[in-house]
Amino acid sequence: MFNQSLILAVDMYGCPNRCKHCWLGHAPNRSMDEAEDIRIVDYFRPFFPRITYYSWLREPDFCNHYRQRWERDNQISVNAKPERYELASFWRLARDPDYVYFLKEVGVKKVQLTFFGLEEMTDRYVGRRGAFQELLRATELLVENGIAPRWQAFINEENRHEVAQLPGLADTLELRERCRAFGEEFTFFVHSGSCDGENCRLYDIRITKPHIPEELRPYYLNYDEVMTEKECCEQLKNDSSGFAYHNGDTIVLNISGTFDVYFNFTHMTEEWRIGNLKKDDPAELVRRITEEDTWALRLARTANPGQLAERYGNTQSDRVFFPEDYRGYLLNCYLEERWREMSR
Ligand code: SF4
Repeated sequence: MFNQSLILAVDMYGCPNRCKHCWLGHAPNRSMDEAEDIRIVDYFRPFFPRITYYSWLREPDFCNHYRQRWERDNQISVNAKPERYELASFWRLARDPDYVYFLKEVGVKKVQLTFFGLEEMTDRYVGRRGAFQELLRATELLVENGIAPRWQAFINEENRHEVAQLPGLADTLELRERCRAFGEEFTFFVHSGSCDGENCRLYDIRITKPHIPEELRPYYLNYDEVMTEKECCEQLKNDSSGFAYHNGDTIVLNISGTFDVYFNFTHMTEEWRIGNLKKDDPAELVRRITEEDTWALRLARTANPGQLAERYGNTQSDRVFFPEDYRGYLLNCYLEERWREMSR
């Protein structure tokens, strides 16, 4: 038995959206056999004293029996209970009149809703028509029921002018005042996301620092820490420290609809797969997890950030990154290249 706690986030049902920034990637929606939940917990039970089970990885409450599902997640977790966080399904909020009452019952006080600009742009980035109107409908329902919406917007070169209109839209809907009336704060923030998963396909249109609209800077997440790509490259020039991805007291595992297992360090691609619950022996898979002994992590430990910046970085680019995200982007460029070479 290991000392660490385990959190399992299992993609049992999928997601109604196909967001262009999704770091988890666009896997098909599958419906897992309901009995797989306890099989997955039992797979890890001999090794970990506390296991928290989440039946969703992509969209919370996407299955129609979300109430029973929440109870079941609580019931099968071992010496631990799942939490609600600030995540909920705007798809379900817009369709299921009972859902907002469920959110209240389980103590949700805030729900994050993601925008990519106004109607056409948001629909295109979420991957389905009607998404923007659903986000507005979800906002209304939440406020009417005493839950504060938290609007998040992903910004790039293409949508920056539309994102700049979102604070005005929030003012028109009087979201701040209405949330304060029930003792909660409406919040709005903007960022460009890490450059992994689907979001790395948007590298070419990643926003440049001079193009972040002035009026959005107060809303930009940790704006003081935002660097341009050329600044990141300069900072990494003599860095030979390697890449350290470590689990602390808690290990979080993302499990795909096909039972592939990943850490939640970055995206769920072949390079990062730890193993598969149906194919791998539990003791061996748990050894790879606890010893952090995977193909990607072995390469990461010996990779040199300075050399990767020289190889994959663009020293002329004003595209914005947080330094840690940029290191992750460089490492993923390297791992993808090595994986391609190895798979030839
Ligand atoms: S970002 Fe979230 S809602 Fe969008 S496709 Fe990914 S998992 Fe689904």
